[in-house]
Amino acid sequence: MLIEQTYRGLYCGAGDFYIDPHLAVERAIVTHGHSDHARGGMKSYLTSRSGEPIVRRRVGVRASIETLDFGEKIDINGVTVSLHPAGHILGSAQVRVEHKGEVWVASGDYKTEPDQTCETFEPVRCNTFITESTFAQPKYKWRPQSEIFARINDWWQLNAMWGRATVLFGYSLGKAQRLLAGADPSIGPILVYHTVDSFCAAYRLSNIQFPDYHIIDETTIAHYRGKGALIIAPSEIRKTGILDLIGEYETGFASGWMLNKSSMRSMIYDAGFALSDHCDWNGLLGAIKQTEATRIFSMHGFTETLTTYLKSQGYDAHEMR
Ligand SMILES: [Zn+2]
Ligand SMILES: [Zn+2]
Repeated sequence: MLIEQTYRGLYCGAGDFYIDPHLAVERAIVTHGHSDHARGGMKSYLTSRSGEPIVRRRVGVRASIETLDFGEKIDINGVTVSLHPAGHILGSAQVRVEHKGEVWVASGDYKTEPDQTCETFEPVRCNTFITESTFAQPKYKWRPQSEIFARINDWWQLNAMWGRATVLFGYSLGKAQRLLAGADPSIGPILVYHTVDSFCAAYRLSNIQFPDYHIIDETTIAHYRGKGALIIAPSEIRKTGILDLIGEYETGFASGWMLNKSSMRSMIYDAGFALSDHCDWNGLLGAIKQTEATRIFSMHGFTETLTTYLKSQGYDAHEMR
């Protein structure tokens, strides 16, 4: 086992490093800046160059972070390590680990549909692939994002015609930037929550373009009352009460989980958009096939469904818990 699951996280014994560890370790390779992957307290970090500003925001300004360009190789205790685009959020990386002719790839979170806010997923050939399986059930099948963005913009336009604001909820890092980049600014003004704006700065460093927007505070929100604005914010904004100042509004939520029509989330919003930063079922299977790996470990999400299916297809498949 070149990489194994330990209570601290994925561990490569030959290279003595961890991938996305949950507990403090000497050397951590971090796949991307989401808080369940990038944690503070590690002695040293290695992450992608474009993802570094995001990871630094998470783990602290004084953290010791080394970076790699995608495809660049580094030797760690005789093990060759390189990072390859995962297409999940800006800078998100798959970790390729090579030792004595054997190649393992740990996917981190990934998405195969290209999107304008991050590097496009790149399949990496390997013997063993450790894949995430967040949406590993055949019922998860995404529509192309162009269709989802057209639906979002149509909905916003309709609300704007009635003088209503459109409040679109999504996670502050990754999803919000994607929603912002897909919004059509000719429809009306765009307002974003400050947590969304703070991550946009890291995206601008990689030359990702966004339409003009205003940061939400009591003055701007009162100014755009009744003017058909689009508000992009994490759902925590509801607790602040600031949305009461925007006048009448409709709410929507953008997440792969919106395909579950019966889920609580689907019921509490006026509109739902199944837009995900993870692969759907076919996306996962396609990515797995492209790696040409014969051994697959599944982690996060529906590991059992994926493992059972892969075994039926002749793979040496296992769950990694
Ligand atoms: Zn993630
Ligand atoms: Zn994750």
